[in-house]
Amino acid sequence: MAVRVIKEKCKGCSKCKKVCPFEAVTIEKKLAIIDESKCTGCGQCVESCKFGAIEQDKDETKVDLSAYKGVWVFAEQRKGKITPVVFELLGEGRKLADDIGTELCAILLGDKVEKLTKDLIAYGADKVYLAEDPELKDYRTDAYAKVINDAIEKYKPEIVLYGATHIGRDLAPCLAVKAQTGLTADCTKLEIDPEDKKIKQTRPAFGGNLMATIVCPKTRPQMSTVRPGVMQKAAPDKKKKGKVINLKVKFGKNDIRTKVLKIVKTAGDQVSLTDAKVIVAGGMGVGGPEGFELLQKLADKFPGGVVAASRAAVDSGWIDHSRQVGQTGTTVKPNIYFACGISGAIQHVAGMQTSDIIIAINKNETAPIFEVADYGIVGDLFKVIPEIIAALP
Ligand code: FAD
Ligand code: SF4
Ligand code: SF4
Repeated sequence: MAVRVIKEKCKGCSKCKKVCPFEAVTIEKKLAIIDESKCTGCGQCVESCKFGAIEQDKDETKVDLSAYKGVWVFAEQRKGKITPVVFELLGEGRKLADDIGTELCAILLGDKVEKLTKDLIAYGADKVYLAEDPELKDYRTDAYAKVINDAIEKYKPEIVLYGATHIGRDLAPCLAVKAQTGLTADCTKLEIDPEDKKIKQTRPAFGGNLMATIVCPKTRPQMSTVRPGVMQKAAPDKKKKGKVINLKVKFGKNDIRTKVLKIVKTAGDQVSLTDAKVIVAGGMGVGGPEGFELLQKLADKFPGGVVAASRAAVDSGWIDHSRQVGQTGTTVKPNIYFACGISGAIQHVAGMQTSDIIIAINKNETAPIFEVADYGIVGDLFKVIPEIIAALP
């Protein structure tokens, strides 16, 4: 157990019971009893007891934090192309590394991907850890987690950042378990505490109604996932020099338990929401699946324009879930975002508010979407959109 009560010292004052966030403490016959099945070892009761009656296993805090150095970015690539969020993470990672006074590194896995190291260095990496092997050609959890975990154990980074892509969301929790450390998912802000140089990771909580700032005080590395489109991409410097460190890759017979038989893209040839430059999104105001046909006509007016939706429209079965924008969908950052018949709930806005230009069309002039819109059109979308289409070349 993480904490234990010293019977001889306990006065039964209940202070520990009051501070325990997990209701793990009860007081029986003037003695604190800790329920092991509920206790997370957070240590709050230890600090609260002025009689020194609760002690915590010292092993829990044994990690030598000073042995961990450097900020790492997982350089996700698919088919030999670096995923755009990696450049955003390098931009953010550069700031964090400079604030700590440490180096910024990328870790790149794949088969015949060495040529990509140049881009990672140009976008800010001082070093690239490179693992090349035919087994790493396509992403598989077992293979990638083994290689990265071995590298974490050997080189001990203090921070590791992952894009909150499908791959990042699969890989990061697996590595957190292997490295016995914490992970904060879907961060919207990262900053270094000037006093202790630990990373403060901020993310929406309670349905986006408040922002929680999370720290990882006792274990290393500190790990976060960040959604695409949230952080600013750094400007590349083609002249920047960096080191490439080749990682030894060796898999045992049982290390990889899956085989990739075929890769099937569900969204067909459509541009992904995260890459789209123009998005025409529809909500309950479009009235049904056929309403999205009008939105598609507007999207077709722009090269690579795509249609997206609010969760309410997705939940109504009007459009596929892969098109959902928002807190529980995709975060997007296009040049133009049309919000058509979308009220502007906080969970929707969380996924599109960093778009360059937001154009809202809504028949209710008090709809919250107008608070984040650069251009607001009050009117019936079935009248407004055909007029916009007609006006466009
Ligand atoms: P409504 O709120 O019903 O708004 C419809 C709008 O259309 C209204 O403003 C109306 O005035 C307008 N309208 C109607 N007819 C017309 C017309 N003819 N012309 C013009 N305007 C018209 N939502 C998301 O979108 N993404 C998420 O990721 C997401 N995650 C969530 C997570 C949690 C934990 C929770 C609790 C909720 C989440 N939601 C999410 C749901 C969110 O709270 C809203 O319910 C949802 O965004 C509302 O969708 P809407 O704007 O399409 O519908
Ligand atoms: Fe006992 Fe200390 Fe808890 Fe009070 S705070 S009940 S003294 S363990
Ligand atoms: Fe509760 Fe935390 Fe104390 Fe466990 S360590 S009893 S969870 S306050």
